[in-house]
Amino acid sequence: MEVAEKLKILADSAKYDVSCSSSGSDRKNTDKGIGNASLCGICHSFSADGRCISLLKILMTNSCIYDCKYCINRASNNIQRACFTPQEIADITINFYRRNYIEGLFLSSGIIKNPDYTMEMLCEAISILRNKYHFNGYIHAKTIPGASQDMINKLGLLVDRMSINIELPSNQSLKLLAPNKEKDAILEPMKYIKNTVKQDRKFVRAGQTTQLIIGATPESDFKILSLAEGMYGKMNMKRVYYSAYVPLNHDDHLPALKKPPLLRENRLYQADWLLRFYGFKVEDLLDDSHQNFNELLDPKADWALHNMDYFPVEINKADYYTLLRVPGIGVLSAKKIMAARKHHKLTFESLKKMRVVLKRAKYFITCDGKYFASTSFFNSNLISSALIHDERKLLIDSTDTVQLSLFEPTTKDRVECITGQL
Ligand code: SF4
Repeated sequence: MEVAEKLKILADSAKYDVSCSSSGSDRKNTDKGIGNASLCGICHSFSADGRCISLLKILMTNSCIYDCKYCINRASNNIQRACFTPQEIADITINFYRRNYIEGLFLSSGIIKNPDYTMEMLCEAISILRNKYHFNGYIHAKTIPGASQDMINKLGLLVDRMSINIELPSNQSLKLLAPNKEKDAILEPMKYIKNTVKQDRKFVRAGQTTQLIIGATPESDFKILSLAEGMYGKMNMKRVYYSAYVPLNHDDHLPALKKPPLLRENRLYQADWLLRFYGFKVEDLLDDSHQNFNELLDPKADWALHNMDYFPVEINKADYYTLLRVPGIGVLSAKKIMAARKHHKLTFESLKKMRVVLKRAKYFITCDGKYFASTSFFNSNLISSALIHDERKLLIDSTDTVQLSLFEPTTKDRVECITGQL
């Protein structure tokens, strides 16, 4: 098979893995090398559906001895298979880099023969890039579940970032949909990577990430976010990615979805921002009696409507973290408010002049003791209806969506996911 044909098949097969994004790796070029890996990421480009497009994202092979029920590449599917040699992967990457098509590589693979054999092939490809072509740019590689520590070590010293995907949010779901995978074969390598990163600065210098599939199994948002919070805390994950389940295969154990649950995926990304940058804990947002977000509201507005005692917040007095809890007030706006009120009392007019977006915030704040409307409006049902009405209007006004739907994230949602202005 021609290399171009393999590339078409193996780039297409890789598109369902979203666990790649910015690098966080900082390494300057050397005299003999080609490329830099920069701290702020290799080039944060996102496609219309929010996925990173700046890396050459390919599989080494789409053949696999495992049979995960949700996966297009599972052993039992009758699809066209292809496999790159390590030399071909290195050649394609360096040629694309020289033509300025890409700035780095995201390399994953189905499992051929066994996990260590597959890892050996990945290492060989990346070793050619690093040692023969002196490619110094960003490389993110997937760890194969079940690989030995020796192979993880070898790969970890060659790449900037590694990921091992949890995929399914519970052991029960893993057994049901990925019967060849063992929980420990995923968690043990994660722990090993976390500990080795601390000891050796050259090992996986941009840290590790993971991915969870959303909607293939019945776990709630509460369960999924709790798992993500544990991953950030215990495994020192740089990012947890949420991937809406794409219905590709027929199987009695898979849900009968017509479309991927993209809006739910988007809400989880927004909630993830709240955990990482806004000081929220999962138990603030969800609990046993409220296990899933209202998809028609962003998670901060959903939280606020369940915690009306917290509001209204007086904009001239609230501390920084209280301001961050107001729906629509993000990190930038909270900082602007903190700085401006040192000089004068803030009113709704002055907030507008400062370009603080009041669309959602106005329902949850007072400015110098004044509410934006009659105080009888301060009621969770009325505010919820108004917010959902605004959201619907935004969806109807949206011109970027070919087919308007309440169940698709808008451009605004996607921008908020990237900027964190929630
Ligand atoms: S191991 Fe990976 S490539 Fe193989 S079937 Fe499972 S998800 Fe697909």
